[in-house]
Amino acid sequence: MRVTRSFSKTRKEKPSGATTISHELLVRGGFIDQELAGVFTMLPYGWNVLTKIEQIVREAMNKAGGQELLMTNLQAKDHWETTGRWKSIDVLFKVPSQHGREYALSPTAEDVITPIAKERIKSYRDLPLAAYQIQTKFRDEARAKSGIIRGREFRMKDLYSFHADQADLERYYNSMIPVYLQVYKRCGIDAKVVEASGGDFTKQNSIEFMAISDAGEDTIVYCAECTFAQNKEIAKLGEQHPCPDCATQLKTAKAMEIGNIFKLGTKFSEAFGATFVDAQGKQQPIIMASYGIGTTRLVGAIIEVHHDERGMIWPESVAPFGVHLVGINLDNDAVKKACEQLYGSLEQAGVEVLFDDRESASAGEKLSDADLIGIPHRVVISKKTLAGDTVEYKKRSESEPTMLSQAELLKKIIGRGDYAGPRSQRDI
Ligand SMILES: [Zn+2]
Repeated sequence: MRVTRSFSKTRKEKPSGATTISHELLVRGGFIDQELAGVFTMLPYGWNVLTKIEQIVREAMNKAGGQELLMTNLQAKDHWETTGRWKSIDVLFKVPSQHGREYALSPTAEDVITPIAKERIKSYRDLPLAAYQIQTKFRDEARAKSGIIRGREFRMKDLYSFHADQADLERYYNSMIPVYLQVYKRCGIDAKVVEASGGDFTKQNSIEFMAISDAGEDTIVYCAECTFAQNKEIAKLGEQHPCPDCATQLKTAKAMEIGNIFKLGTKFSEAFGATFVDAQGKQQPIIMASYGIGTTRLVGAIIEVHHDERGMIWPESVAPFGVHLVGINLDNDAVKKACEQLYGSLEQAGVEVLFDDRESASAGEKLSDADLIGIPHRVVISKKTLAGDTVEYKKRSESEPTMLSQAELLKKIIGRGDYAGPRSQRDI
């Protein structure tokens, strides 16, 4: 992608009302555009990141036996009345139509999936089942804040599992904990597993996954060496205690929720009369659990964890591009030719490249944009580098550049094996 052709544009000014670093950097880097408070368009750079995160989530859910589907956003009022949630969920968006009807705008989808499951699950032989979607959700928040971390419109992966008995639910629910931790790890986050109300894990009906971050709304007591954590408000253990799992001294920090899993039990199946015939021929309500990951929130959380005073530092797995190619002195024909050649070679190899081909911008502007956007590998070609028949290479996470020949650079970038590719945005 050439910067001169890009829909995303960087800006210097901080957005007004930004209270988190992720909100500020995403707007300044040209990743998102605010439509309303808590409602954002994902611009091409932001959409690149989001689609990579969602693909990581999708692969994990498929591997965990989830079947992907797409449920509706506009949902039947009578389903929400059946579960009593038309009245009890205070953030439910209620949409009146001009024909006198009302609909719910989906904040979650138990009220849609349960009646669907009721039609398909008749016998214990049909169980277990798991279905998920990655879909836009809505919450009628009184005050939307923190940018895409807490929006009124956002994207979320929600999976629902259906079981014949409690033991089978426990088995699947517990198997999801390492699946979730692996998703976060692939996105560059060491998540902590927080029991929602403290105490014995197996007796808990929900677990929250948290990222350590100053932008977080919770304070947790956690272990730096393993995934153990408790919410500080309910924690039985303090900083003076060793971790119950690995004996390391516990620490306290602010943390942000980045996912949760819930044992729903028979609450929804009983409301809709979703039953199955068990091995003894008896009608039983289906036992359910739900598993959420806010994918747009995760975009914000990754930045909260990975940034410095100059901008974002994307983990390779979810970076908007693999390489930021910066051309300096582009009015010089030799520089221009070298840049075009390298851009072509990298793109041909399936590497996603953002090529700063602006002739009008200064070297300083281009380098500070590269720091702001935070692409993992930066390559600079200028009159100076060409004089030595080299390119200047620097990782965004490192401070000192090195000089490499073009061949060395190509080997470094293309020969890596762990390169996130292969999707590439080509110019029109
Ligand atoms: Zn530990």
